[in-house]
Amino acid sequence: MTSVTLVDVSKTFARQATVLEGLNLHIEAGELMVLLGPSGSGKSTILRLIAGLEVPTGGRVLFDDEDVTDVAARDRMVAMVQQDGVLYTHLSVRDNIGFPLAMRKVPKPDADREVEAEASQLGIRALLGKMPRELSAGHQHSVATARALVKESRVLLMDEPLATLDARIRERTRLEIARLHRDLGTTTVYVTNDEREAMALGDRVAVLDENGVLSQVDTPRAVYHKPASLFVAGFVGELNYTTVRLERAENGWWLPLGNDRLLVDRSVVSTRPGLEAHLDGAVIVGIRPEHLVVAAPGTPFTECLHGTVGRVEDAGSFVQAWVTIGAWRVKVRFKGDQRPVSGNLIELSVDPHHLHFFEPAGGAAL
Ligand code: ADP
Ligand code: MG
Repeated sequence: MTSVTLVDVSKTFARQATVLEGLNLHIEAGELMVLLGPSGSGKSTILRLIAGLEVPTGGRVLFDDEDVTDVAARDRMVAMVQQDGVLYTHLSVRDNIGFPLAMRKVPKPDADREVEAEASQLGIRALLGKMPRELSAGHQHSVATARALVKESRVLLMDEPLATLDARIRERTRLEIARLHRDLGTTTVYVTNDEREAMALGDRVAVLDENGVLSQVDTPRAVYHKPASLFVAGFVGELNYTTVRLERAENGWWLPLGNDRLLVDRSVVSTRPGLEAHLDGAVIVGIRPEHLVVAAPGTPFTECLHGTVGRVEDAGSFVQAWVTIGAWRVKVRFKGDQRPVSGNLIELSVDPHHLHFFEPAGGAAL
């Protein structure tokens, strides 16, 4: 197994703005690293730099301790599954999968053995005699994956491989990819702009912002619960946020919201050392929809927010509603059996441990 390290990598295309600048990223041997970012953030460019299909403008690419920056793509032993995993329509499934072997002039019996092993691995052995047009989108994807895997590779790169599949097949294929990674253990870099896919698949997720800057590299759990910035918090999940002025309270801080004041007590304050400097100044406060709940009777008023229910939407297993607290409109999730009524007043409670705080300028987490 091979680790991949990008050291201070920059990429500027001729007559284009800089896409990547000073990017540092280490992918452990055997890890499944997801690159998550909006369209145009440079995800494919990073994959192509790892594959050797692009040359960095600055910086180095390492496989283990070996500097491969100047090694040609065909000598890097990298397999790549592209977005639409295009198959050769005039070749059978067997010949599609075997194509890289035929290119390398591997003797036919050996090639057949490898193709069959790979097809079995992906559960598509029965399809070897078929033509691509006879296959479902999910099976076409598996064939493209098998084709990428027949050549022995140190690193597997997947560029939005599920983007063109519809939702139901996408989830099943995602499970296949997870299983494949578990079985093969090959170091994998997986690109997507779908945060649910990233969270479900990644050992770790590297989140790129729209400018191609790495905002955070962490486990799915950490990027969700401890986002490094407002951008990450909003990209890996939903976040209600607004700018507030923190005021000193007797045993913590007050957070004025609408006509209420939430008490951020000492136990929370002590976990956010960066906040102290913002006392009596503006900060951005954020809360995820699932952390705003209908207040139980007896909830201390210092944990309650009062609002007016706006639009209510059914989402099947839960009900989603917009609630206005002063001038702040927030999204709230209710259990299926709690149906808020549009126009009614509502009392919500917030556990201050679930609050997120960010710098008003730049959005770095505090
Ligand atoms: P993503 O995969 O995250 O959508 P890309 O890596 O494809 O982003 O592209 C990042 C930026 O680099 C985009 O602005 C894109 O237009 C630009 N870009 C990518 N490839 C080239 C190229 N070969 N020539 C010029 N600009 C490019
Ligand atoms: Mg791309």
